[in-house]
Amino acid sequence: MDIVERFLRYTKINTTTNREAGAAGIMPSNPVEMELAKLLENELKELGLKDIKRRENSITTAILPSNSSKKLPSVAFFAHLDTSAEQKNDTKAQIVSYKGGDITLNKELNIVMKESEFPELKNYVGDDIIVTDGTSLLGADDKAAIASIMNALQFFVQNPDIEHGDVVACFLPDEEQGLRGAKALNISEINTDFGYCLDCCGIGEFIYENWNAGDAVVTFTGQSAHPMNAKGKLINSLLMAHKFISMLPGGEAPEYTENREGYYWVKELSGNSAKTVLKLDVREFNEKKYSERMQFLQNLADSCSKLWGDGRVNIKLADRYKNVYNYLSEGENSLPIVAAKKAYESLGITPKVIPMRGGYDGSVISEKGIPCPNIFTGAHNFHSIYEYLPVKSLYASTNVVKEIIKNLAK
Ligand SMILES: [Zn+2]
Repeated sequence: MDIVERFLRYTKINTTTNREAGAAGIMPSNPVEMELAKLLENELKELGLKDIKRRENSITTAILPSNSSKKLPSVAFFAHLDTSAEQKNDTKAQIVSYKGGDITLNKELNIVMKESEFPELKNYVGDDIIVTDGTSLLGADDKAAIASIMNALQFFVQNPDIEHGDVVACFLPDEEQGLRGAKALNISEINTDFGYCLDCCGIGEFIYENWNAGDAVVTFTGQSAHPMNAKGKLINSLLMAHKFISMLPGGEAPEYTENREGYYWVKELSGNSAKTVLKLDVREFNEKKYSERMQFLQNLADSCSKLWGDGRVNIKLADRYKNVYNYLSEGENSLPIVAAKKAYESLGITPKVIPMRGGYDGSVISEKGIPCPNIFTGAHNFHSIYEYLPVKSLYASTNVVKEIIKNLAK
């Protein structure tokens, strides 16, 4: 099967993540994710892969066993089954042959992708681009990755003379809601030396650094009183929360930071004068600085407690995921990084290394013991009706997967 046909086939299965079901502990959060998992299971069987397992939570794995007499490094490739909740409609993908300028996605509804808003379109003049009809997202995040991995597996099945080590494919549900699938993964069932997620952006991009991420829930307990005789009695928890927020370092917020700059994100605030709950996200690339940020919040809560009385301020801190770079023991020289860069370069693709201001399944998988950088699928504008996938980038993505596997045998 041609990779484009394969990709289009996957996009027709509408696997929008369901946050309500996810919050209730259901996995996969959308039963349609299981439909996609079943389709993949059948395709893996047709390819003749080994140890094919589709679990009740829809996590699906298979092995392409080594065909070498040498002991070669084993590698896994990961993609997620669900698509983001921003758009729920069925995807109606279309292929346009891009001549430059704006792209009309939907004539009837007058939905246009403007070159002025998406200037990187200029890189694809003369190419075929897969776009939406303006009423849904494309789901290239992450079905381009699934297509890329499946196509690479097909290649090695059809070319048995090309030497390779053990290759594991793993498809995970519910990445779009707190990396739930990766968290549920029993890592001992993967058991490779390292792995790659395919879950990012434009051709050439390569990620092996992401946030150290944590969050804080601060509860302020006041004392309510009727305003007619509140003097000296009312303790307003809303105003405590307000003061607490005003003591956070100015400018260290998502809207003022970029690249490797960390932040505190005042994410949610709800309450009344008796009780107010403040939720904060803490993000930092450097592990030491991350610990300092978490400690700062603890100290601030402690000082406020001293000021306003015991029990008035309660803070709960939790670590969510870590920077993948922490797990690449030789840093830039570690094999997962070197092997991917070599694959890019042998295809004439310049690696664009970017620190990812977010998390991806690899953050969790790395923490569980399989170092897992993130390579490109070639798609742009994730989570949006303007999501698109240049066909040549999709080919480049699957070629990187093939090259990595080939190079590991050398
Ligand atoms: Zn994704």
